[in-house]
Amino acid sequence: MSGTPFYERVAVVGIGLIGGSLALAAKRLGLVGDVIGVARSETTRAAAIEVGAADQVTDDVAAAVKEADLIYVSAPVGAIPALLEQLAPEVRLGATVTDAGSTKADICRTGLHLLPASFIGGHPMAGSERAGVRSARADLFEGRTYILTPQGADDELVERFVAFVSALGARPVLSSPEEHDRMVAYSSHLPHLWAAALAVGLARLPEPADLLPFVGSGLRDTTRIAASDPTLWHDIFLANRSNVLRACDLVETALQELRGAVTEADSTRLLAYLQQAKAFRDSLGYTEPAPEGVQRGLRLAIDGPAGAGKSTVARDVAKALGYTYIDTGAMYRAVAYFAMQAGLVAGRDDEQIGELSGRLRFEFRPVGDERHLFADGQDVEHAVRLPEVGRMSSPVSAIPLVRHNLVVAQRQMAAGGSIVMEGRDIGTVVLPDAEVKVFLTASPQERARRRYRQLREMDIEVSYEEVLNEQMVRDQRDSSRAVAPLRKADDAVEIVSDGLQREEVVARIVALVRERQDG
Ligand code: C5P
Repeated sequence: MSGTPFYERVAVVGIGLIGGSLALAAKRLGLVGDVIGVARSETTRAAAIEVGAADQVTDDVAAAVKEADLIYVSAPVGAIPALLEQLAPEVRLGATVTDAGSTKADICRTGLHLLPASFIGGHPMAGSERAGVRSARADLFEGRTYILTPQGADDELVERFVAFVSALGARPVLSSPEEHDRMVAYSSHLPHLWAAALAVGLARLPEPADLLPFVGSGLRDTTRIAASDPTLWHDIFLANRSNVLRACDLVETALQELRGAVTEADSTRLLAYLQQAKAFRDSLGYTEPAPEGVQRGLRLAIDGPAGAGKSTVARDVAKALGYTYIDTGAMYRAVAYFAMQAGLVAGRDDEQIGELSGRLRFEFRPVGDERHLFADGQDVEHAVRLPEVGRMSSPVSAIPLVRHNLVVAQRQMAAGGSIVMEGRDIGTVVLPDAEVKVFLTASPQERARRRYRQLREMDIEVSYEEVLNEQMVRDQRDSSRAVAPLRKADDAVEIVSDGLQREEVVARIVALVRERQDG
């Protein structure tokens, strides 16, 4: 295990797919000490030990909870309040109690009442149509949103749990239980209801089996979640009834409209409808993590000062390896761009800029041969290169909440592997466990010469000395700032690019990745 674990002793109450996956991931990453799994069935207990999700198992909730500093309740929604009642008297001072239920209002009412300072409601937006600890996967949470509804819990406990969730590779989002239930009725419960209705409709065909030779991926994709555990979803629909019904109304109306357009053969309305559907689906911008068993590529972190040639090299390396290039500087620039659009000024409106950075959704999408940065579905690749946006990006990147939000988004992007991520703090802060790290630099004189040539090509009047002096000041500021200063990670390979051709630098880095892949 590396470093100090977040929790010394974890009790997973109800060790199935979610609890088991959490335990596997946390143990593998060295985030926790001992895990004790609680399950009523002996088969489950044996399986939890066998797959390595627990170090010990028991069917005694009270005994398991007594010594634990994290109690993770992962049971069907309907069973969670009763479990909380049962375990609350045993919870020791300073321990964190959390659950993984898909609805929050009822559960959090009980949690807040019984364990006001230590209960943090949680909902990992991860799952599978499979159930049971044997289906647990250490990567189940990677890149997934993890909603937290902490209410009255101690700040320190909340902070630690948020950091733990991030370290698992998930993306923590804070919400209230009511807001959570309202939103997941649309984002999760309605899709399930729809999949179930579609499946039941087809199951009522006189001979459903006759369909099989005609079934393609469309039907399998749209009904996939209908294969989930029926008892689990039974509880969810009942616990979130009023929100689910509201969501149901929305889609029933939409179905009537579609039906109307088809009935009347109204091609304008039909096309507009389908276009709206496509635009919505595209805006989700969602990529599945690599399926189980598929080999993921490595994560390559490239850091270094401005002017060392990082972006061109990183782009070429990504191309050579077939990896995705992630330009984190562009993300800081995008926050600066949206802040400017909203009339916000760094230094004066830092709090609002911080909040704005948490709302933006980033994605690098292919456009022709390149990848462009999209923020909130908008292609901002060109806008973020404007000089005034570049100037604003430096103070924006020093706002702690901006850094927090962007680091979380960057970790999420890297979770699937096969990426080249370039910036200032990738090897040190964003991906300290990246498989390959490069610190690409050049002498101040060489970097200033390159920048001077670039500026002259753009017909900007400056002297070489001015460029060199300004750069020295910036280097000093970047490496001495309090949050995420520019620094070579201890395990990074340093490449000084003075006198090297770009192709030589690229070839060296590609060789480093291949060596690591083969080794
Ligand atoms: O590299 P680029 O010039 O596009 O970066 C824009 C801004 O974002 C710079 O001020 C840089 O210091 C900051 N940045 C950062 N951390 C990163 C990447 C960029 O602070 N990982």
